[in-house]
Amino acid sequence: MSATILDGRKTRDERVPELAKRVSALSSTPTLAIIQAGNRDDSNSYINAKKAFGKKIGVNVKHIQVLETVPQSELISIVQECNADVTIQGIIVQLPLPIEIDDDAVIDSILPSKDVDALTAHSVKRWLDGNEDALLPATARGIRTLLKSYKIDLFGKKVAVIGRSTLVGKPVIAMCLNENATVTVCHSKTQDLAKETKVADVVICVAGKPGLIQKKNVKKGQVIIDVGINTLVGEKLDDEIETKKLVGDVDFEAVNKVVAAITPVPGGVGPMTVLSLFENLMDLCEKK
Ligand code: NAD
Repeated sequence: MSATILDGRKTRDERVPELAKRVSALSSTPTLAIIQAGNRDDSNSYINAKKAFGKKIGVNVKHIQVLETVPQSELISIVQECNADVTIQGIIVQLPLPIEIDDDAVIDSILPSKDVDALTAHSVKRWLDGNEDALLPATARGIRTLLKSYKIDLFGKKVAVIGRSTLVGKPVIAMCLNENATVTVCHSKTQDLAKETKVADVVICVAGKPGLIQKKNVKKGQVIIDVGINTLVGEKLDDEIETKKLVGDVDFEAVNKVVAAITPVPGGVGPMTVLSLFENLMDLCEKK
């Protein structure tokens, strides 16, 4: 038997009317500023997804793009201009930044009241503390919403999170702890991954390694959340054009025959991340 598909597109679409209603109840159209240094393909496609979703729910997305060679001080000045601009309610610094730039210095220059990604030191402390009204970074919030919409409660469950990055893994770990799960954190130095994942009720994979989770890593009844987004080069059409395929970290075909529920890639956590970013924006707007 196949697993229940935890459908991120469907869950996102169900929540769009409510979010659009919150936007239209504001006294003026909100604006989200996205600051991008450089022109990476992956960043461009994430920004395009945010622009399209903003349009759908009636939020302005102001894309400020500068050259990859931008000095750090100039990037911080742009953030400060956005901080001072009363027409802007949320600010995102699109990551990764060019290698020469200190991410923390730039991110920490965002006003906490406009920190829609919840990645400034101020926001991190709040979600680490499990503060009730703390904003969570969008991917972690999206996973929480998706699980709740399928009535999957983390309370008292054993959760294995694979990945410990500050950007995605750690917010997911904190979210699970705040939901009262017992959390095991696995990473690239974990000795026996299958041993850790097999005893979990829920496995959340945030590694960015296609095929990392195979049949041997899972057991009957588990819930599998695949956060990974990896682009594989597919077949060559007519021996010339290479097709690209988006896959997660989980071998979906093999794993979905064993477990109880699973997110697909694409169409699982990705759409929930975009939705959650705008839910964060609305929370910031309504706090004012
Ligand atoms: P990262 O490279 O910063 O971190 C990867 C983590 O995975 C590290 O902590 C590392 O220890 C762990 N890891 C790597 N190889 C491993 C292995 N063989 N066994 C166990 N652990 C291993 O990456 P990131 O920024 O955290 O992103 C992870 C993935 O999530 C990427 O594919 C990224 O594209 C994706 N992502 C998806 C969304 C979404 O909305 N679905 C949002 C953000 C990131």
